[in-house]
Amino acid sequence: GGALRPGASAFAHGFSSASAPNSHSQRLAGKVAVITGGASGIGKATAAEFVRNGARVIIADVQDDLGRAAAAELGAARYTRCDVTDEAQVAAAVDLAVELHGRLDVMFNNAGIAGDLSPTPLGSIDMGDFDHVMAVNLRGVVAGVKHAARVMVPRCSGSIICTASTAAVLGGVVAAPVYPVSKAAVAGLVRATAGELARSGVRINAVSPHAVPTPLMMDTMALWYPGMGGEELRRIVEKELNEMVGHVLEAEDIARAVLYLASDDAKYVNGQNLVVDGGFTVNKQLNL
Ligand code: NAD
Repeated sequence: GGALRPGASAFAHGFSSASAPNSHSQRLAGKVAVITGGASGIGKATAAEFVRNGARVIIADVQDDLGRAAAAELGAARYTRCDVTDEAQVAAAVDLAVELHGRLDVMFNNAGIAGDLSPTPLGSIDMGDFDHVMAVNLRGVVAGVKHAARVMVPRCSGSIICTASTAAVLGGVVAAPVYPVSKAAVAGLVRATAGELARSGVRINAVSPHAVPTPLMMDTMALWYPGMGGEELRRIVEKELNEMVGHVLEAEDIARAVLYLASDDAKYVNGQNLVVDGGFTVNKQLNL
């Protein structure tokens, strides 16, 4: 996008010359966002998309060096260390937004881990791995929703987005049920809280990415295809997991979906799970 109709001037459309080339329309102008897991992958791409759209962003993560570098690169962003398994640290990240900017408009509960995604027969599920994955992927999201609601509900405004996964929609990814269960629970949490939040003028939605070649995904691929190099693994993601679309799903594609849910364009969208998969999960027709 971005190309103007012949004869139309950027000025007439209300774009400044600086924002016209990349077609961004400042959809989050003046808004304040916290992004957990914002130091890498989908969270980092979303932080960039938010800043481009006029938001001030707090990147909350446990990778200090990457988080600080991302914040410095983006400008209108600040890094804070926040392990989402510790409720107090999630509360502090939310409070930092209010302290620095007086408000919190968008909470992106995105931090997540894959856990052990090697094929695991049900009889050998490691309950320690289960607890750890649930502590990050579910408990961390619950804490994020709780503390975002604490500051959003009194202002009767806000948008909460939680990262689920196509793993929550499919039966699973591989025979390793812990991760998909954690993501199905995130989608369930969104549905279970949307009604209460709507009465307070706050929205909550999930976004469900399919395979995006982030460190999380590529570490998992390396486990599934031992001995293969990064480029080879990326080609497998492209060919096997995004075969219908023909090119790889990028973190930026998810970021734009999250931007939509965060913005007032989605002001009547609540309790939904926006699946961004190029049609992968619905492509189940009989080949007659
Ligand atoms: P990523 O590894 O690039 O980013 C995840 C970030 O979360 C990292 O920066 C990591 O440090 C952070 N994190 C992990 N544990 C944390 C904790 N306890 N507290 C705070 N931060 C923590 O991976 P990604 O693919 O960008 O993952 C983002 C989200 O997207 C995750 O919830 C993941 O499950 C989900 N997801 C990813 C894919 C995919 O294919 N990449 C598909 C569906 C869903």
